[in-house]
Amino acid sequence: MKFNTKTIHGGQKNEEVTGAVMPPIFLSTTFAQESPGVHKGYDYSRAGNPSREALENCLASIENGKYAFAFSSGLAAIDAILKTLKPGDHVLVTDDLYGGTYRMFTKIYSVFNIEFSFVDFTNVKEVQNSMQSNTKLIWIETPSNPLMKVVDIKKLVEIAKSNKALVVVDNTFATPYIQIPLEMGADIVMHSATKYLGGHSDVIAGALIVNDTDLAEKIKFQQFAGGAILSPFDSYLVLRGIKTLHLRMKCHCENAMKIALILEQNNKVKKVYYPGLVSNKYHQLAKEQMNSFGGMVSIELENRQAVNNFCKKLQLFTLAESLGGVESLVNHPYTMTHASIPQEVREKIGITENLIRISVGVEDVEDLIEDILKALK
Ligand code: PLP
Repeated sequence: MKFNTKTIHGGQKNEEVTGAVMPPIFLSTTFAQESPGVHKGYDYSRAGNPSREALENCLASIENGKYAFAFSSGLAAIDAILKTLKPGDHVLVTDDLYGGTYRMFTKIYSVFNIEFSFVDFTNVKEVQNSMQSNTKLIWIETPSNPLMKVVDIKKLVEIAKSNKALVVVDNTFATPYIQIPLEMGADIVMHSATKYLGGHSDVIAGALIVNDTDLAEKIKFQQFAGGAILSPFDSYLVLRGIKTLHLRMKCHCENAMKIALILEQNNKVKKVYYPGLVSNKYHQLAKEQMNSFGGMVSIELENRQAVNNFCKKLQLFTLAESLGGVESLVNHPYTMTHASIPQEVREKIGITENLIRISVGVEDVEDLIEDILKALK
């Protein structure tokens, strides 16, 4: 099955009793047992629920994995991975990543004596030199949030394997429409399904997808015993979203490319971060590793006043947290999504007060461009 077909049919079948084409939402928390311990595959919805399972089957299919697990948020999915580690383990992390992931690593798990090093993953030598004998995980986000750095997944997998560390790829920005990290050797694919998978800014959800059976069992245990499962209704919303993922992503990518090109020509814009631009330093790698360049564009303006004016004047783009929905949004990482990263760290990696992250929606691109150009005046 090819990708577009998988988004609609992957892991799905018509419901057996009624023939319903869309899997029903099974709200039941518990299921009748024929005799103690004998049941039809479900006993309690935290352990397994048909609506969640329908989504998990589809997630495994679109990411070319064997097993998938749906969580109550992207952070809950990340949390489940971290809980498979032990005190004394070391995690090597890309230096440009979602602020909430950084916060969880540094504020929650450091306290439990898990060690984190944040390194520029576009510098493969630096990654190699930062590996330690206790490095158990390499945490990749590509393209990264918010600077759109593109990391060479295959190269980092090689380094990890020679040190027996696992590789996690946060595939939230790219989605499997653009790249399939498991095919490049990654061990775990992670999603904030709140974003492109859900696609309509109406559900908070997370997902993990793996191939290895032992690893799947460990994650399944964390999901069941930790309890941060995705609800049946939210599972339905994400499954519904995935059915149009390929259509939406095509439009997100086309619109973002056109907008990035216009922004690059505008003298009010100091810098454009978009891997689809030939001028972008990750363009060649992005061309090799990705099928398209995504719907996220970041820009730098002259100063904070220009940022405030731009955000205020926009009519179609809403100033808001999050990304990946059908509607266009702008975000100020410095004060919003990445505010929990210490100021000196933010500034060191380039998350300045002048940076704006744009989630390009699927509206008519001419309207979006007109809105941006008016707001830049
Ligand atoms: N990973 C990335 C790249 C994100 O952008 C986000 C949220 O913005 C997360 C993880 C966390 O996901 P959630 O907000 O669904 O918990």
